[in-house]
Amino acid sequence: MGRIQPRDSVALMDGYHSPQVEVDVRLNTNESPVSPPPGFVEALAAEVARVDWHRYPDRGAWELRSRIGALHGVGPEQVFAANGSNEVLQTLSLTYGGPGRNVAVFEPTYALHSHIARITGTGVAEGERAADFSLDLDVVRSVVAASQPAITYLCSPNNPTGMVETRQTVEEVLGLVPGLLVVDEAYGQFAPWSALELVDEETPLVVSRTFSKTWSMAAARLGYLIGPSWVVAELEKVVLPYHLDSMKQAAGTIALDYLAEMEERVAQLTEERGRLEAALRELPCDVWPSGANFVLFRPRTVDGAEVWKKLVDRSVLVRNCSSWPRLEGCLRVTIGTSHEDDRFLDALREILT
Ligand code: PMP
Repeated sequence: MGRIQPRDSVALMDGYHSPQVEVDVRLNTNESPVSPPPGFVEALAAEVARVDWHRYPDRGAWELRSRIGALHGVGPEQVFAANGSNEVLQTLSLTYGGPGRNVAVFEPTYALHSHIARITGTGVAEGERAADFSLDLDVVRSVVAASQPAITYLCSPNNPTGMVETRQTVEEVLGLVPGLLVVDEAYGQFAPWSALELVDEETPLVVSRTFSKTWSMAAARLGYLIGPSWVVAELEKVVLPYHLDSMKQAAGTIALDYLAEMEERVAQLTEERGRLEAALRELPCDVWPSGANFVLFRPRTVDGAEVWKKLVDRSVLVRNCSSWPRLEGCLRVTIGTSHEDDRFLDALREILT
């Protein structure tokens, strides 16, 4: 008897991979280079000791959602929280996508937008960005007209390019789409502006964010979106009951007591990004301007895949995008501590000069 196969759209799919190699300097997954403040860890441990482990968690995660909402000047009914922003995106696809519906994406962008759409049986309409990776509104117009997407994704700052969409661009795209516009702001805190300022009850716009980067909490798996309450209510119907465990709710709520420390980290990383970008520009590399906590670059004198390997030989891990469509020869480096970034830059200098 043969083994049961998944449906074709899953069987033919590649998984999402990011190698976890043992190295000294890990600059491949856009995490924060530092752990959360010690006070956070202590307060969370104390809170965990108070959890009623025999009870299900607060299903609505109301305290967490209220605190996140307060951070952005909205009520909890405009906040949908989930296990990482990936689960936010998955819930959006499960709710508004599905067979017979489409999402629109503009490549290159975050691979999970189309990957999750396919897993949920949603069609994917792909538009190409311009040669400099900026968004081409004529392309948006034609992709949207042809596919009538239920969800259109923008990612700002975009992963893996680091580029930020302007407010004008987001507003123009909003005017074009027939369905929901999702602006993925996983790196939003590092950017000069946020589409959060465009969210209201009437606009079909949601903005997703994560605790994984700025909040130094990639291990906790917590993300959220801010959007109209009628969208949040639909998402709540679809997501599994009690999907946010008590520990995670506590972790997110307590983290919000440390806003000043988090803002300080963002400021430091943004400054460090300027230093890293400037140093890369002095090497034989093409460098894309970044509003995120990573920088995309393409070595000009040595093949990107070769550079990646030689960096690993020197115990430095960056993201190898060199074989990704449209990103031939490109590598993406996460901003680390200045010590880690120096290790990376020294290794790269040695390889390229
Ligand atoms: N969106 C973008 C653009 C990302 O780069 C990432 C992390 N790789 C995510 C969403 C998902 O982040 P998380 O699930 O950790 O919140």
